[in-house]
Amino acid sequence: MLRTDELIQKLSSTGSLEENEYAQLIKDYSEANAEKLKTLADAKRREIYGNEIFIRGLIEVSNICRNDCIYCGIRRSNRNCDRYRLTPEEILACANSGYELGFRTFVMQGGEDPFFTDEVLESIIKEIKSRHPDCAVTLSMGERSDESYQRLFDAGADRYLLRHETASKEHYGKLHPQEMSYENRMRCLRSLRRIGYQVGCGFMVGSPYQTEIEMAKDLKFIEEFRPDMCGIGPFIPHKDTPFRDEEAGSAELTCYLLSIIRLIYPRILLPATTALGTADGMGREKGILAGANVIMPNLSPVSVRKKYELYDNKICTGEEAAECVNCLKGRITRIGFKIVTDRGDIRKE
Ligand code: SF4
Repeated sequence: MLRTDELIQKLSSTGSLEENEYAQLIKDYSEANAEKLKTLADAKRREIYGNEIFIRGLIEVSNICRNDCIYCGIRRSNRNCDRYRLTPEEILACANSGYELGFRTFVMQGGEDPFFTDEVLESIIKEIKSRHPDCAVTLSMGERSDESYQRLFDAGADRYLLRHETASKEHYGKLHPQEMSYENRMRCLRSLRRIGYQVGCGFMVGSPYQTEIEMAKDLKFIEEFRPDMCGIGPFIPHKDTPFRDEEAGSAELTCYLLSIIRLIYPRILLPATTALGTADGMGREKGILAGANVIMPNLSPVSVRKKYELYDNKICTGEEAAECVNCLKGRITRIGFKIVTDRGDIRKE
């Protein structure tokens, strides 16, 4: 087995490690190693993206979901969840105000709500694209059929985010009810890629039953699948789920993994997630310093923000979008980066 320094060197020069080497590198977490990885990741990111940070306007369209993922605060069996759904007009109004604030990507995210049929989504996507032709539309609406993904792509959707959650079938089974399958998740990701979307995957850091072995599988999956985006954030328990008493994931380890992912695939778009900002008050800044280059401020109406609570104590649920953007601009500038008005596509060779 290589020494940690040699593993870091190998990762930085080849973008690849064996699965057991990833596991070793995760096990060898230390502040000193985090610092080394961060310096290398920062340099790679600057070669491609300079000090630019892309913003995505997040519109949380519905917290109604037919699924029952064990870790999720809006799972269908949570009777305490106050359900809502935005109307197409409300979604379009969020996009309009986001455009004024400088957003050039809108992310429609929601539970798997049967209201959002292909017809409904097609008409919203087409309307956003006709009002704002210079913007990208990203969907994060869960598992759908290949035909559905194709229709939404044909309607103008550019990107799709679907966290793979874990690249271990066994671990997947411990985080989801029996009716959900690892195979279907992977089928969706392959289908999205084949159709031509820019595809985002991702996972939680520190989820129940996860060890460095599972995280190593996630890293190997990212190395092989080469997603255009990857969202990772610490697991944060939600009080109304069976995982309520589980320990939260670590912001430090999340940043460590962000640096590793930047080194695996230097061009990848990596968000400093809201979960990271929730786990640590300076989490988003630390994420950016570790190699992230995207943030996703919330454009949802303030009246519904608190209701889209996948985990406890989510930040930024009280401010208007304009306040959020100004706050983030200040925070990002203070650490030497700048938010740009740009679609923020992946920069390929
Ligand atoms: S994680 Fe997504 S699919 Fe699962 S219950 Fe929550 S919103 Fe639904």
